[in-house]
Parts: sequence; structure tokens; C-alpha cells
Amino acid sequence: MFIDTATITVKAGKGGNGCVAFHREKYVAAGGPDGGDGGNGGSVILIADSGLTTLMDFRYQKHYAAQNGEDGRGNRCFGKYGEDLFVRVPVGTLVRDVDRDALIADLKEHGQTFTVARGGRGGFGNAHFATPTRQAPRFARNGLAGEERTVALELKLLADVGLLGFPNVGKSTLLSVVSAARPKIADYHFTTLTPNLGVVSAAGENFVLADIPGIIEGASEGVGLGLDFLRHVDRTRLLIHVVDVSGLSGQDPITAFDTINEELKKYRPELADRPQIVAANKTDIIQNQEEFDAFCAEMKKRDLPLFIISAATRHGVDELMAYTAERLSKIPVEEFEIVADLPEINVPVGEPTFTVRRENNTFIVEGEWVLRVMGSVNFEDYESLGYFQRVLRKAGVIDKLEEMGIEEGDLVRIDSLEFDYMP
Ligand code: GDP
Ligand code: MG
Repeated sequence: MFIDTATITVKAGKGGNGCVAFHREKYVAAGGPDGGDGGNGGSVILIADSGLTTLMDFRYQKHYAAQNGEDGRGNRCFGKYGEDLFVRVPVGTLVRDVDRDALIADLKEHGQTFTVARGGRGGFGNAHFATPTRQAPRFARNGLAGEERTVALELKLLADVGLLGFPNVGKSTLLSVVSAARPKIADYHFTTLTPNLGVVSAAGENFVLADIPGIIEGASEGVGLGLDFLRHVDRTRLLIHVVDVSGLSGQDPITAFDTINEELKKYRPELADRPQIVAANKTDIIQNQEEFDAFCAEMKKRDLPLFIISAATRHGVDELMAYTAERLSKIPVEEFEIVADLPEINVPVGEPTFTVRRENNTFIVEGEWVLRVMGSVNFEDYESLGYFQRVLRKAGVIDKLEEMGIEEGDLVRIDSLEFDYMP
């Protein structure tokens, strides 16, 4: 099983409703409004955790919802905030907004957080709406819905360094002698891939080394691994090109080296421009000294870093890995382009935008902003409707209607709401 992507839905908590209440006390006849605000809904927050290495858990749990805020109560009691829901993801997780097909976060460091669904705001209680001329507001606002979205999590691994070379040159052997303990890899559940990946500790750095399958080996080796694996391999920052220089392969090492590079250009062009380190392998059993010397001279002529090694005896291997780690530390990690901001979905602030359309004597007001404002108004109360109309006036909706020739008694329609126009 190769689990490095998962799609989940996240839903933040709804804000609690504001409360309509009036102060009551013995011997006090008519108290003022004291309805408290609703609490904000909890947010869903992703947090990167270096202790996690797979997205396995997201196979089984796909829906994440944070707590709702509580409604406000009388006596100016504010509703409790909904608790945020923290969802742990592995370090290296990319977050993609599925609907917009856009990357929205790259969680690179342990402890880094990203709020993926913001809780809805709690509604104001009626205490909030008291003014000198409106001493007893009989309305409050409802809380807003929490954001809800579908996101794809993608675990960008992994391979920092790719191993390149013909079959049988000693790639797997090299991988096996340089790989430190493998618990991390085992955790990746790459059961079929385990032999193809290794974590190397050298020169104070850790990096992941991967065998690059399917270039010369042909489809057979690549097929079982799947495109996902190749996608990760394509992100390797550095290549170690292993060449059998023993003279036993029946192939001239310079020709072998060039052939592989031509294949690389053809089949994995993404990798063709990566820096290469040359590892002349099987030097413990050299049969043709001349051919070997010619190879070394040619690599030097091309200004390529060359290491004389024997994977079998480990000769020269530590030096190769130390150099690799050092080179790697100077190559920046690929940055992913993140869209600047998540659009706020439910918060009724921002520039009022609306359009007005006329059908005979009906004026239809449309626009997302208007709908959001409506979502935050309690229409069960007459006063609340008045409040809504004042918001419309402030935003210029009324002016616009008048400009378009509205007259007393004409119908105004906003979403499901209809009312007669009274100047
Ligand atoms: P791969 O196909 O590139 O992964 O090559 P392998 O690592 O499977 O090695 C192929 C064969 O070469 C195996 O029998 C290894 O034991 C042998 N081999 C690998 N490296 C060396 C080396 O440095 N010296 C010798 N003598 N044999 C080696
Ligand atoms: Mg192999």
C-alpha cells in the first residue's frame, strides 16, 4: 500500500446565537436589554508532527468537525467558545483545497499549524444593539456557520538523493550498506518499496536515498511502484550515478554512463538537470585497469565529482556519503507555491458588493455579501428587519434602488425575503 495522499472534509463549529433578554430584578420594573453574545465556533487546525510518517489514519477517519459555540444567555452571559480541533499530520504535508484545486498550505516544520476551517462568529446579543433611541431591542443576531471544505492532504516525501545506474551495478548494495536503522522507512508502509529507500546519516545530516526505478530496468520494475513513487523521485535534488567499472559487465563504463544520461533525458526529463555525483563501483574486482583509468580521466575532464568505491567492501562509501550530505545541504529544498490567503467564507465583513436587477415592479437584490448579511440577521423580529434595512441603506442598496426608479409599494426581493418598499 502506498499511502501518501488522503482526502478529508473539515468543518468548523457554528457560532452560538446571540440572546434576547431583559434585565430582571425584584422591584425593578423594566430592565434594559442584557442578552449576551454567542460564543465563536471552534476552528479545525492542522498541526505538523514529526512523530507521524504516514497519512494512513486518514484512510479510516475522513471527517473532522470542531465544536459549536454556545448561545448567549441573559444577564449578559456570553456563550462558551467552541473548542478548536487539532488534527495531527506528518511534517511535509501539503494541503490542497479540492474545490479550487489550489495549494493552501505546506506544513514544513514540527509544530507548525494551519487553520483549515475557521469557526463561525458568535452572534451579538440584544445588549449589543441598545442605543439611546432604541432602548429595548427585541432582536439578536444568529451565529454564523463555520467554514467547511474538502482538502486533499499530500505527503511530499522523501527522497532527497536518487541512485542512478544500470541494473547490477550495485545500487541496492550501496543503499543497504549506507542506510541507517530503518524504522522510519518501515513506517511509510512502502512494503514493496522498502529495499528502494534508505535514510542516511552522514556529516551531521539525515537524508533519504532512493533507488530510481524504471529508467533502464524497464517498465517491469517501475510498474509495481506506481506513478506516485516516481513523482517523489522526481523531486530528488541530487543524483548519485553508480557505474560498474570492474570490467566484468561487458560494457565500457563511459558508454554506460552516457547511455543512462540519454535515457534519463528521454524518460525522466525532470531529473536530467540535477547535479550528479559519480560513484565508480566494484573497484575491489577491477579486471581492466586501462578502462578504469580512462573512465576516471573522462569524469575529471567533465568536471564531475568522482568517488572510487566498493559497495561490497564499503571502501570509499563513507566519503561518498559525507560529500553527498554536504552538497545536499547547499541545495535549497523545493518551495511549493501557496495561494496567498484562504477566502473567508462566512464572515459578513468586507466591501459590500451587490447588484440590483429590475423585473417590472420587482427589484431583485443579489450578491454574496447580501446573502451573508442576511445569514446574520434574525428575521423573526420586526425590529431586526428594520436593522437590516438600515444596513442596506448604509451599504448604498437603497440609493441604488431609488436611482433605478423604485416607488412606494414596489416589491424588493432579496433571496427568499420579499418586502414592500416604504421610503
Ligand atoms: P543493482 O541492480 O544496481 O541494485 O545491483 P545490486 O546491488 O543488486 O548488485 C548486483 C551484484 O553486484 C550483486 O551480486 C552484488 O553483490 C554485486 N556487487 C555490488 N557492489 C559490489 C562491489 O562493490 N563489489 C563486488 N565485488 N560486487 C558488488
Ligand atoms: Mg537493485
